[in-house]
Amino acid sequence: PSAPMRKPSWIRARPQGGAEVQRLKRVVREQGLNTVCEEANCPNLGECFNNGTATFMILGDICTRRCPFCDVAHGKPRPVDPEEPARLAETVRAMGLKYVVITSVDRDDLRDGGAQHFADVIRALREANPGLIVEILTPDFRGRVEKAIDILSAEPPDVFNHNLETVPELYRAARPGASYQGSLDLLAEMKRRCPDVPTKSGLMLGLGETDEQLLSELADMRAHGVDMLTLGQYLQPSVHHLPVKRFVSPEHFADLGRQAEALGFTHVAAGPMVRSSYHADQGGFDVLKK
Ligand code: SF4
Ligand code: SF4
Repeated sequence: PSAPMRKPSWIRARPQGGAEVQRLKRVVREQGLNTVCEEANCPNLGECFNNGTATFMILGDICTRRCPFCDVAHGKPRPVDPEEPARLAETVRAMGLKYVVITSVDRDDLRDGGAQHFADVIRALREANPGLIVEILTPDFRGRVEKAIDILSAEPPDVFNHNLETVPELYRAARPGASYQGSLDLLAEMKRRCPDVPTKSGLMLGLGETDEQLLSELADMRAHGVDMLTLGQYLQPSVHHLPVKRFVSPEHFADLGRQAEALGFTHVAAGPMVRSSYHADQGGFDVLKK
């Protein structure tokens, strides 16, 4: 295999923040919970924690799928922890967060894909944290979309996020076990059932997509009612993961972001260090103010 591409100057680690960020990390650890922010070594951690935003992973840290861009462990997951919603709600309260993103691994082993646990978490978070804004970033619930949407539309989040991750041409290589149309349908169905809940999706650039494929996908998203968009740079977690095929410059991201806005997305975050939950607070608060 050839050597990995050198990272350009605009990809850098950022300072992780001071005493307040350390305190928040301690609270998370004491409760035995996981933030994606820490696990994924997210470059935005200091900024997000200081703004009262964090992303939590529920339903364990073992995935039933194995996407070759993703660093999450795979195998047989542990049983769902019924105490998790209450523990998470208490942690979010102790951290004083204003905006949380809740995500999970794929749980193809569960009959509802984990949807009821998401709903239980949303309810517990709201009960313990009045005014908290809750975004969920869900798996695709493949084969269980109807059931999952029934459950989630009874306890809807403030923002419903499901990432398409990459262009359909790369699904076989990058998202084995997933379906492009299935993911679009999940987003459209949520919008149909809960028209007031903004829907959101995101893509990683640099897996081998062309701009043309990308723009055609953005049009597909709009045709399925997706309101909000994140575009970020894919970074290879290790040499065992898919290689980076291109580093998209900040200027090029900005240009793609403008093209996305022209397609009618209400919120677009596009940039090398943008992650699915980056500046979620700002997007989310605007949405709720409208
Ligand atoms: Fe956490 Fe998302 Fe912020 Fe990264 S961008 S620190 S994962 S909330
Ligand atoms: Fe990672 Fe999600 Fe793929 Fe699981 S389904 S391997 S968590 S990207």
